Amino acid sequence: MQKKRFVTTTIPYVNAQPHIGHALEFVQADAYVRYFRLLGEDVRFLAGSDENSLKNVQAAEKAGEDVGTFVARHAKAFSDLQAVLNVSFDDFIRTTEERHTKGAQKFWQACKKEDIYKKPYSGLYCVGCEMFYSEDELVDGKCPDHKVEPQLVEEENYFFRLSAYQDQIKELIVSGTLPITPERRKNEMLAFIDRGLEDFSISRSHERAHGWGVPVPGDEEQIMYVWFDALSNYITALGYAEDGALYKDYWLQVGQDRAVVHMLGKGVARFHVIYWIGMLLSAGIPLPTEEFIHGYITSEGEKMSKTLGNVVAPKDAVETYGQDPTRFFFLGALSAYGDSDFSDERFKEYYTAHLVNGVGNLTSRIVTMLEKYADGKVPAVAEDTLGITGMWKTLDAHMRVFAFDKYVETVLSFAAKCDTLISEQKPWEKAKNGEDISALLYTLIESLRHIAIALLPIIPVAAERILAQLGIDAAALDSLEKESAWGGMKEGDTVAKSDILFARL
Ligand SMILES: [Zn+2]
Repeated sequence: MQKKRFVTTTIPYVNAQPHIGHALEFVQADAYVRYFRLLGEDVRFLAGSDENSLKNVQAAEKAGEDVGTFVARHAKAFSDLQAVLNVSFDDFIRTTEERHTKGAQKFWQACKKEDIYKKPYSGLYCVGCEMFYSEDELVDGKCPDHKVEPQLVEEENYFFRLSAYQDQIKELIVSGTLPITPERRKNEMLAFIDRGLEDFSISRSHERAHGWGVPVPGDEEQIMYVWFDALSNYITALGYAEDGALYKDYWLQVGQDRAVVHMLGKGVARFHVIYWIGMLLSAGIPLPTEEFIHGYITSEGEKMSKTLGNVVAPKDAVETYGQDPTRFFFLGALSAYGDSDFSDERFKEYYTAHLVNGVGNLTSRIVTMLEKYADGKVPAVAEDTLGITGMWKTLDAHMRVFAFDKYVETVLSFAAKCDTLISEQKPWEKAKNGEDISALLYTLIESLRHIAIALLPIIPVAAERILAQLGIDAAALDSLEKESAWGGMKEGDTVAKSDILFARL
């Protein structure tokens, strides 16, 4: 049976237009998903929008717009990223949809009765983060992210007994039952747990929520705390409310080696690695099998955020540089695990070095040589002298730990090997001297096939165009297990050069 894998991205608040931080997560998840689809897995990929936040209400009020219209407009800008960045998600859930509100209420009721209780509460609340802060977490009395003073909020709320799950959650992480990548984030989460997990508020008054959000089942006066309903999107989107087929197939994966992967930013790690796990344990629902936590794209060293107003829009980046170049930069030039800076200068440099002069030039050189010295016909299969199996093993290892930068680096260094081979062997001289260069030509054209396939998850359109020059239809590829074997190009196959792949900026 085909192995199943469920991959999710976090659902952003839709109080403003998307910025390139959201795009990074989409593109990383998409590369990961495309890779496992190449392997022949049945992957379901979910994205969505978090629409029940108080921030949305405030932003809509500020814009003088009805909240529903406001969130719908912004949610569309996020789902439109699918086309802008060529992201292959299968579903986009909006948390104002009925499948979600019903599912979130069912989830609330599925939690153990003793885990949800009501008590009066007062705390320092940052509306921007939608979370309470303790005094010592603030910087100069202000939210470290939004640089504004949190509000003192006093009311009676429902609480979730997270404290009851402290040992269990810690054990899951320490034992590697729930792998958290990268290690650094895992250690941060463990340190957070060791400071002691406190029960957290999971509702707010109808009044403070401005009546917006998912009502607490059986209590008209309370609305679910946005994080409590938002996290459940990962199951509500699969039809958890009615125990749907997708939920069984992709979340429960009964009797299979389950693969349920959350991809998220470091700012929401606590919610996914700790709160959500506690909630699932309480509800008796199987846990995700893995979580990957990426860093931020910074601008001059500062986090990009709506509040700080230093946001770069993904659409602008794509319009300026093109879709594949943008994906390539995100995946190859930015650190997969840490923060990295976005600048036009870095972008141009990386693009020119690795796509124009790297992959683009190599493709053109190889296909031109085949046309010139072999009438565009692939010579007899020659032995692999470049160690292709090693490259694929390395690529697989990197992709499985979300090391997208290392993955790209591995493809590029293999391409560089091909360049070196050409410079050393000087096929044009050998051909002039009447030497047989057919084995060399085979090695190069077959290597190019591997490079193109390896790049399919990273720059899908350009990689397909390389394959097309080799007479290969990317849509008709076999599973990676077969395609990654040496010898895919057959004697007599025709190759033909096409238009330039990557234009100079
Ligand atoms: Zn904040």
